[in-house]
Amino acid sequence: MTKPKVAVVGFGPSGIFASASISEVADVTVFERASVMGGQWNFMEEELVEPDRQHSSMYTCLWINAPKEAYELPNHRFDGELPSYVKRPVMYRYLKEYHLKYGQAAKVKFNCKVENVTNTAKDKFSVTWVDNAQPDYPQMETFDYVVVAVGHFSVPNDPIFTNEDKFTGKIIHAHDYRDGRMYKDKRVLLVGGSYSAEDIALQCWKFGAKYSHITHKNPNRMGYQWPKGVVETETFLKDFDGDKVIFEDGSSEEYDYIVKCTGYVHHFPFMSEDILLKTENSFCPENLYQQCVLLKNPKVFYMGMANQALSMTIFQHQSFYIRDLISGKIPLPSKDEMQTHYEADRAENATFTHPFEMVRYQGRYANRLAELTGAVKNGGQCEILIEWIKTKLADVTDYRNKQFNNFYTGNLSGENKVNWFDDREP
Ligand SMILES: Cc1cc2nc3c(=O)[nH]c(=O)nc-3n(C[C@H](O)[C@H](O)[C@H](O)COP(=O)(O)OP(=O)(O)OC[C@H]3O[C@@H](n4cnc5c(N)ncnc54)[C@H](O)[C@@H]3O)c2cc1C
Repeated sequence: MTKPKVAVVGFGPSGIFASASISEVADVTVFERASVMGGQWNFMEEELVEPDRQHSSMYTCLWINAPKEAYELPNHRFDGELPSYVKRPVMYRYLKEYHLKYGQAAKVKFNCKVENVTNTAKDKFSVTWVDNAQPDYPQMETFDYVVVAVGHFSVPNDPIFTNEDKFTGKIIHAHDYRDGRMYKDKRVLLVGGSYSAEDIALQCWKFGAKYSHITHKNPNRMGYQWPKGVVETETFLKDFDGDKVIFEDGSSEEYDYIVKCTGYVHHFPFMSEDILLKTENSFCPENLYQQCVLLKNPKVFYMGMANQALSMTIFQHQSFYIRDLISGKIPLPSKDEMQTHYEADRAENATFTHPFEMVRYQGRYANRLAELTGAVKNGGQCEILIEWIKTKLADVTDYRNKQFNNFYTGNLSGENKVNWFDDREP
């Protein structure tokens, strides 16, 4: 019997896990617009060539923002000597080694940007892509299934503030923040109240910015004891005048840089309207059954679309689940059953207000997929994440120097060779 043909779009972590798992039961072709794998994690690692724009929103000197123990995989372990918080290149190598170990059966087309995916009359999918070497000759192939694995932290949500063109300093989006050294002695304003604002403010502080201020609209404060030089303002920006930002409470301050940490959008310009996912960022994305099967066409899968806590754990469980749906090992429920399940999932997600609840919800989701596929349950790692949140609230400048016990062995990870603040290496 011929195997089904599956197109995987994107070769970041989700595409790496998808291609490895699904090629056990299908003929997989991965399309990756860049010249190398790794998605967000491949930033200046190798000879990276990309058409149009840089995909990764990461920056030099980036340490992972939660302990690796929270998403280490049962069949692919980190070296036990490593500390809990590793730097971007370590994660990149971890992912690459996963592919080398498990993903060799898939065909990977690097430098191939998918431009169009349409659902054909025979309920197949026509995928059109452009090879960077031959930009004038689009190519096309037909597949039985499509897995969209292009991530959702690359295309900026970029609001324009009234009169921002009157600001004489530089305004960038967090996507384009690259290197803390550029901000030495500078006055920086971060606009946003989530991970990017928090981490970039601390990066600027660490690399000697004169000050970095955070402004956002969320009535809840971020809850950290900021170091001297980092301030979370009580008010939001309102207007601009030269190098001054005027705030809603009438106060003003001078800045050299404004970094919009205003998030990213789920953006799939290559998918035709009938198979396009429309969703906001949340712990339960819209219009997907089990957070990865497109309700309006269950032969189309979107991976890694939720807000991420257990990241790699979730991507891997999704890849196993999609594999088992394609092979028929797991029968797909009826349309009505999927819709009912989805609505219950969304309703549950809507009740959460506390981060611990959201993390545990994601842990339960991971375990639910593991029960369906028979994979090792590692959704219990969410307790490590809860401990991580507590250590971060206790000291936001020091939490990356703390070590965690391995989820599988119980052993404590190695110590940092250099602590986070003193580390200046990419
Ligand atoms: C600043 C920052 C810090 C982060 N820190 C952490 C962290 O500490 N821990 C953690 O777990 N997660 C972190 N993340 C989240 C990170 O996005 C995920 O870990 C992971 O990279 C998501 O994997 P993905 O494969 O779904 O998407 P991505 O990594 O975004 O990969 C998508 C791939 O799709 C390709 N692609 C896009 N469009 C096309 C197309 N049309 N045709 C072909 N290929 C295409 C891209 O080139 C890319 O290679 C961070 C994200 C950011 C932005």
